[in-house]
Amino acid sequence: MRCLAIMYHDVVENGDFESSGFPGEGAHVYKLRREDFECHLDAIRDAVPSGAVSTIAARRQWSSTPPVFLTFDDGGATALHPTADLLERRGWRGHFFVTTGRIGTPGFLSADAVRDLRRRGHIVGSHSASHPTRMSALSRAGLDREWRESIACLSEIAGEPLKVASVPGGYYSREVARSAAAAGIEVLFTSEPTAATAQVDGCLVLGRYVVQRAMGPEWSAGLAAGLRGPRWRQTALWKAKRVAKTLGGGAYLTLRRAILERGRK
Ligand SMILES: [Zn+2]
Repeated sequence: MRCLAIMYHDVVENGDFESSGFPGEGAHVYKLRREDFECHLDAIRDAVPSGAVSTIAARRQWSSTPPVFLTFDDGGATALHPTADLLERRGWRGHFFVTTGRIGTPGFLSADAVRDLRRRGHIVGSHSASHPTRMSALSRAGLDREWRESIACLSEIAGEPLKVASVPGGYYSREVARSAAAAGIEVLFTSEPTAATAQVDGCLVLGRYVVQRAMGPEWSAGLAAGLRGPRWRQTALWKAKRVAKTLGGGAYLTLRRAILERGRK
């Protein structure tokens, strides 16, 4: 069972990257301008069979054609307008992962907006309570707290049990998934660039391919279509990030630039 899940963050109007989500250049590289995001969506629409873009709720089981899941991390203020609006205009629904400790704070969704997303048919899930810098470094008790608190908060807001989540910061470990499963999470999206799926204690674990601002619409289209080139480059980026932990950030940035520039050609 394979799926092509794409990870976006905030989509902002007028290039105002401060308007939504976490502040700082480190977070801003993941944010897209609204007009660029529209090009990404149109490129996806042209690249995949109709019906391929769907949600995990609609398709928990699938066989042949891998579904395309569009996911949005952090729960920034623009998730409803314009992000969800733009998806709906194309007949699509997305997966929105909310950092519950930020709900109602500047730059993030209000509780009403979270409820609205759910009401409009989008998948709403946890992106942890506090967005720890390194989720996988937490103790088991710390992990349990992050998942349980955030799931309880979102389920209360939505008025129904919510059972989907994504791992903040890409710091995944088996223990992160075990803790999620124990908290009642049935589907967990990671940041591992893979189409393969796995089961951990009954929790379905799905990888995702990230889209950053420096990536053009052809990246989204290529990833959604499951093309080997962009998926391979994502794996290279992922490995470069790991290497950077030992070499230092400068080396990672140089590598990242080289890989992204290759993607443009
Ligand atoms: Zn995040």
